[in-house]
Amino acid sequence: MTPRAKFATTLLRTAAALSRATGRGDGSVIGGRVGLIVEPRLLELLAEGRHVVLISGTNGKTTTTRFTTAALEAIGRVATNSFGANMPTGHTTALAKAPKAEYAALECDEHYLGQLLDAARPKVVALLNLSRDQLDRAMEVTALAAKWRQTLQASAGQTTIVANADDPLIVWAASVCERVVWVAAGQSWTADSAICPNCGAHLDRFGEFWRCTNCGLNRPSPQWSVAHQGEAVVGPDGRRYDLNLQLPGRVNRANAATALAVASLFGVDPAQAAPRLSEVASVAGRYAKVERDGRHLRLLLAKNPAGWLESFDMIEPNPPVVLSLNAREVDGFDTSWIYDVDFTSLAGRKVVVTGDRRTDLAVRLEVDGVDFLVVDDVRAAIAAVPPGPVEVVANYTAFQDIRAEFNRVN
Ligand SMILES: [Zn+2]
Repeated sequence: MTPRAKFATTLLRTAAALSRATGRGDGSVIGGRVGLIVEPRLLELLAEGRHVVLISGTNGKTTTTRFTTAALEAIGRVATNSFGANMPTGHTTALAKAPKAEYAALECDEHYLGQLLDAARPKVVALLNLSRDQLDRAMEVTALAAKWRQTLQASAGQTTIVANADDPLIVWAASVCERVVWVAAGQSWTADSAICPNCGAHLDRFGEFWRCTNCGLNRPSPQWSVAHQGEAVVGPDGRRYDLNLQLPGRVNRANAATALAVASLFGVDPAQAAPRLSEVASVAGRYAKVERDGRHLRLLLAKNPAGWLESFDMIEPNPPVVLSLNAREVDGFDTSWIYDVDFTSLAGRKVVVTGDRRTDLAVRLEVDGVDFLVVDDVRAAIAAVPPGPVEVVANYTAFQDIRAEFNRVN
C-alpha cells in the first residue's frame, strides 16, 4: 500500500465511524466516498492479492453473498459488504475494514459489474438472475444483459463465472466466457425471457428445458442443482449435500447451491460448507422473526415483481399476510409494476395492506379479487390480525420502516 492509500484508508475509517456515531447508518457509503476521493485507485489497491468473488443479479444477491461468506469462512477470513452497500464506495469500505481477510465476497449492483471486474479482478463472478426492477430508473433488462455480455467478453479473462442455467438472459450474457459453471438455480419469473435475447425469436420451454426456436441458444446442462426431493444440493459428481436452512423457500435453496458452487472453486469442501449455511437465520433483517402482543411476524423483503412472486412461494399457507408498499427514491417512484404480480394466490386469506402507497396496492388486490383491509401503519396492521404467526412482505423502504419499528432487527 502506498502512503496515499494508507492515508485514504484511515480517512475512510474515520468518516465511517463518525457517520455511525451520529446515527446516519453504518457509514459504508460516506467512508468509501471519502477514501476514493483521496485515492481514486483505493478499491483496486485494497483488492490486490485477495481472492475475490463478486455476486450480482436482480434478486437474491444479499442472501447469496451471506451464504458464500459463511462457506468461505471455513477456510479463512472474509471481507464482505454485509449491509447491502453494493456500489464501489461500499466495496471499498468492506475491504478497508478487513485488512487481514484473504478472501472477499462482494455483493455487486448490476450496473457496476464492469467497474468491479476491472478494479477487483475477481477469481469468481456469480450471476443469479435478471428481471425488471425499478422501472423509472434502472436499465431495461435485456439492455443490461447485453451490457454484461460485452463487459464479460472484455474483462472476464481468467475469471470463472458461476451462472444460472435457468435464466436465458444470464445464459446469453455468461456464454461469452470460457469458464462457466452452470447452476440450475430456477426461474419462477419468466415474463422477462419469453423471447431469445440473442435473436428475438420465441423461446420454447418444456419442463426445465428451454431453447430458442431460431438460433439454438438453449439451457446448458447444469453441474449444480437443487434436489427435487428434500432439502439438498446435488454437486457435479452427483454427490448430495444435505441442507437444513433456516431461510425459507426454494429460492434460498438455489442461493445455497450457488454459494456451494462458488465456495468449491475456492477449494472449500461442500460437505464442510453446507452445515455453515444453516446457521444463517436472517440477512440484514430479511427473514427475521419478531414478536409483539402475541403476533409472531416473519419479515420478507421483496423489491420487484419477481421478488414478490418468490415471497408468495415462501409464506406459510394459513397465517394472515401484511403487505407494505412505498415508492420513495430508492424504491423507484413508479408502482405500476404491481400489475405484473399475480396476487390471486392470496385469495381466501386475511390480507392487510399498508405503506405510503397502500391505496395503490388496494386497487391492485381489488382487480385480482383478493379481499383486504387497509391500515395506516405496521402497528395498526398488528392490531388488525389475531395472535399467532403473521407473514409480512414489504418493499425496500417499507421494509426499513418496519425494521425501525422493531429497533432495526437483524
Ligand atoms: Zn435465438
